[in-house]
Amino acid sequence: MVYLDNNATTRPSAAVREAIDRALSESWANPSSVHRAGQLARQEVELARRDLAALIGAKPRELILTAGGTEAIDLAIRGTLAAAARRPSPPVVVSTRVEHAAVRDLLEDLEKSGAAQVRWAPVDAAGGLDLSRLEPLLHGATLMVLQWANNETGAIQPLAAAGALCRARGVHLHCDGVQWVGKEPTGVSTLQIDSLAISPHKFHGPKGVGALWVRRGVGLRPMVHGSQEMGRRGGTENVPGILGAGAAAREALAWLADPSARERLAALRDRFEDLVLRAVPDARVNGPRGREQRLWNTTNIGFPRLEAEALLLLLSERGVCASAGAACSSGSLDPSPVLLAMGVEPEVAHGSLRFSLSRDTTEAEIEHGAAAVVEAVQRLRGLVPMTG
Ligand code: PLP
Repeated sequence: MVYLDNNATTRPSAAVREAIDRALSESWANPSSVHRAGQLARQEVELARRDLAALIGAKPRELILTAGGTEAIDLAIRGTLAAAARRPSPPVVVSTRVEHAAVRDLLEDLEKSGAAQVRWAPVDAAGGLDLSRLEPLLHGATLMVLQWANNETGAIQPLAAAGALCRARGVHLHCDGVQWVGKEPTGVSTLQIDSLAISPHKFHGPKGVGALWVRRGVGLRPMVHGSQEMGRRGGTENVPGILGAGAAAREALAWLADPSARERLAALRDRFEDLVLRAVPDARVNGPRGREQRLWNTTNIGFPRLEAEALLLLLSERGVCASAGAACSSGSLDPSPVLLAMGVEPEVAHGSLRFSLSRDTTEAEIEHGAAAVVEAVQRLRGLVPMTG
């Protein structure tokens, strides 16, 4: 099978599987228990927290362990708003329409219920935040939420510049770092952000575990109550998931030390694009093309007048996994709100697919994947027979 859907989840590494096995066989006790077995589990959890913190250049106690990126984002947004001053009421939140549903859907819901007033900052055709129009939107705002890198196009946001603007106006900046962390070096102290969401299943760790980094001194009200995580997030810890996350963080940090690994993969991604675009001349890349403007592992290609779902099914038949970056509702794929927000025409957005590489993607997979995409497009356009 050729797996080109690594922005959805990456395959857990052997070290991650080993750490999870160890947790289930040796560190299965409750880390809050005072007995020796509990304290052994506590020690392992704290070592994993240390490894996750090291991956982003943070202090271990600045991390709150959660049940994934979505919960970390939810805690950052709702926890920040709950801790903030009561004026203005409702508080103003600034964000973009190219955020992941974990952000977009929550903000839309807060807006609908009257708990927040949301100002949607404009993005350009490549999905990048339009910095020139951000400043007036921050006036009187409590919170800004901005992703570091986009899950559908890989577009990298101007986080440093947005951070400087937010800091100057006393606006809390929450960064959705789910697609960035583990794929690119991260140093939270070098940025003017106040919180950062992380999800280890995007860097060969397990799903259902995540972390929120919060800058020391920043106010945050817990959303899930209980004594764990120093009262900031209740609930008995997912010890196997946390140990797996720690192992994934250790491996990712070691891998990031060699930039040539990322360059090799960016070249593979570019080759995949070239192979597809040369064979399908009306196909086009949605989002930025430059290596500086997007993650090394992502491409999003639009095939005008085709249905993404039909393409995905044909690709799946050939053992190739990709994704449409779209919400599946009642059996049909709606065009991606991210692509529509970038101004991609609906007839292109409907036929757009996301392909994403992992650290382990090989040249052979890229060649096979590109050939399968070209064949699927030609079959749907009636250029080659549907059977055979
Ligand atoms: N933010 C981004 C950019 C993502 O890509 C994802 C997951 O796809 C999330 C948030 C949600 O993370 P999780 O799947 O850990 O809940």
